[in-house]
Amino acid sequence: MKSIIIPLNDWAAGERKFHAQADLEFFQQFDNSEILDADVNVEIRVVKDGRNKVEADLHLKGTVTVPCDRCLDPVQIPVEADPSETLTPSAVEVDWDLSQAVYDFVCLSLPLQRLHQEGQCDPDTVRFLSHKERGDEEAEASANSPFAALKGLFESK
Ligand SMILES: [Zn+2]
Repeated sequence: MKSIIIPLNDWAAGERKFHAQADLEFFQQFDNSEILDADVNVEIRVVKDGRNKVEADLHLKGTVTVPCDRCLDPVQIPVEADPSETLTPSAVEVDWDLSQAVYDFVCLSLPLQRLHQEGQCDPDTVRFLSHKERGDEEAEASANSPFAALKGLFESK
């Protein structure tokens, strides 16, 4: 299990910088089968004040590979975000696990539509899928026909 853990108890108030890499192994622990590959650089600036309030400013930059919505081939989506997280005094613990936050921030920064740029989809897959759609319609039409035939049978009685 690969986590992004910020140690909190071994340093006084002040500022520290941390660095982590959110790769495929990191994303796999969240059971997200959509993420085929990932390479996101995570820079974390942690500010701890005297009253044990802790703030983390994150800078996420990298790429996440997901299936294209149109052709299902892998498409690399650039990711960049600067979220921040605050740990409230009551929640201050020995370590601060930022894994879930980093995962959420990356997922939130992904566009709703994940597509190759126009013309860059796999032409074979697009052709196959559009063919398959037509095939489904044909299958649906023939699935209806036994009922149509039965209906005809009842009507003739
Ligand atoms: Zn595509």
